[in-house]
Amino acid sequence: MTEPHDIVIVGGGSAGCVLAARLSADPNRRVLLIEGGPGYPPDAYPADLTAGSFASIEPYRSWGFASVPGRTGHGITAHAGRVLGGGSAINGGISRRARPNDFERWVEHGLPDWSFEQVVGTFKSLENTEDGVDRWHGRSGPWPVRHSQPEELAAPIRAFLDATAQAGYALVRDFNDPEQAGGYGGEPKNLVDGYRQNTAMVYLTEAVRARPNLTIQCDATVDRIGFEGNRATTVRLIDGQSIWGKEIILSAGVYGSPAVLLRSGIGPAHHLDACGIEVVADLPVGEALRDQPMYVLHYVLKPDPGAGSDDGSGVLWIASSKAADGELDLQLSISVQPDLDADGAPIRALSVWATVVAPRSAGTVRLKSADPRVTPRIDYALLSDESDRRRLHELALIARDIMAREPIASLVVDDDLRGPGASPDELDIAIRIGLTTFLHGTSTVPMGGDDDPAAVVDGWGRVKGVRGLRVVDASIFPEAVSVPVNLTTIMVAERVAEAMLTQARAENA
Ligand SMILES: Cc1cc2nc3c(=O)[nH]c(=O)nc-3n(C[C@H](O)[C@H](O)[C@H](O)COP(=O)(O)OP(=O)(O)OC[C@H]3O[C@@H](n4cnc5c(N)ncnc54)[C@H](O)[C@@H]3O)c2cc1C
Repeated sequence: MTEPHDIVIVGGGSAGCVLAARLSADPNRRVLLIEGGPGYPPDAYPADLTAGSFASIEPYRSWGFASVPGRTGHGITAHAGRVLGGGSAINGGISRRARPNDFERWVEHGLPDWSFEQVVGTFKSLENTEDGVDRWHGRSGPWPVRHSQPEELAAPIRAFLDATAQAGYALVRDFNDPEQAGGYGGEPKNLVDGYRQNTAMVYLTEAVRARPNLTIQCDATVDRIGFEGNRATTVRLIDGQSIWGKEIILSAGVYGSPAVLLRSGIGPAHHLDACGIEVVADLPVGEALRDQPMYVLHYVLKPDPGAGSDDGSGVLWIASSKAADGELDLQLSISVQPDLDADGAPIRALSVWATVVAPRSAGTVRLKSADPRVTPRIDYALLSDESDRRRLHELALIARDIMAREPIASLVVDDDLRGPGASPDELDIAIRIGLTTFLHGTSTVPMGGDDDPAAVVDGWGRVKGVRGLRVVDASIFPEAVSVPVNLTTIMVAERVAEAMLTQARAENA
């Protein structure tokens, strides 16, 4: 048997790359990062993974997951990056922080260390931006953030934002300022000179990868964790290879981490029994999947609607009539998509992505089989909470109202929102048929205090009831956050790594 690694991290995505970089900074700690997809040198990521603002949703970049039709009536492709950098490598590059109100809901799960006051310092220290005020922003961290402004966006997007102003909403210059109270503006993005950045580029630099105590093993898919008693000791790959680790961290993402846990015997006992898997710990893994329900409205634009790069997006982020104090639970994202008409002639469409960003509905991730080659069963249960359905309906009406205003109204030749004359029932049917998610899944392995029955891990990602095993990624969010998820995931990984380093320093003192 080879000498075990001190830390084995499963999954080199948004969180896993941060953990690998931070935990290997101590030369005495041997760290192994295992990633199921391919890796690339930090300065040689292929164009599809760095191109501007467009997410890379080609099937070969993903794990091939899809949801069951469930209440939605149709399956939804559950994109999940399969590459070093994970979701941060395939995503759209939006870099927005969760809000104070989001973290209040985390604290309610018995997690006093996760208030906004506790986490804001990490948001600042990981950030590198010239935008916003010093009180809220970091200037020298690793993660680059560039906040676009309406003046820089394509003419149709500017026209939409101008119509938004006509409808009475305020301009927001900095969506990452926790004191902003909602409105419209450009998006903050992790772009450098127009190129999208991911955590494998930013955290796993050449210098970090050259550390003798860090090994990165790509194209290696993990089946499950092996235990001696209740201590996690090995990572089993699908080719049967076993890798020993003194501590194992799962960072395999919102579907990958619960799937590995379930195959390892950590999950609801009744479900594991049904799959023929021996129970190691009876915990509610995969029982609280959150994702943001979204309905996209497309509008064909008149020829030559004006100048400006299509490579950017605008946003309207506001409170619904049902929002809690300080909550911004609705969002319209506006982008221009090039397309072809029926005769193959180029056209451009304005896409308005209407999303309930603070969903209450909870879905599930379960196994169809103990075989790691079989994808998990994902049920989003979108809109199963009545308030989500009402709020998405409310937002579609807001979008329709803005689209009827100038200057955007006269730039559009066609729309697909079943026309302004659609009845509420017809609009609900249109939403249900077109329903998808914003691809911001969380909460399948939730953190929580001792008294939280929904919790699988404690406030620092340690799996309850076993030893030597943590989960650190978007799956441990105890609740959804009202933003795209990447930046908050990076913050969570930074904080857990710092807590582990602090604990190790104390033990060695
Ligand atoms: C198409 C798309 C667009 C998005 N756009 C944005 C955006 O613009 N802004 C934003 O903030 N968020 C966005 N998101 C969401 C965001 O990217 C994710 O929430 C975030 O990356 C989650 O990070 P993570 O560390 O939890 O998981 P991931 O980054 O998904 O990392 C998991 C890693 O584990 C690996 N893995 C999984 N299972 C195994 C296994 N069994 N063995 C070995 N390796 C395994 C995966 O290959 C992956 O590299 C988007 C997501 C998608 C899919």
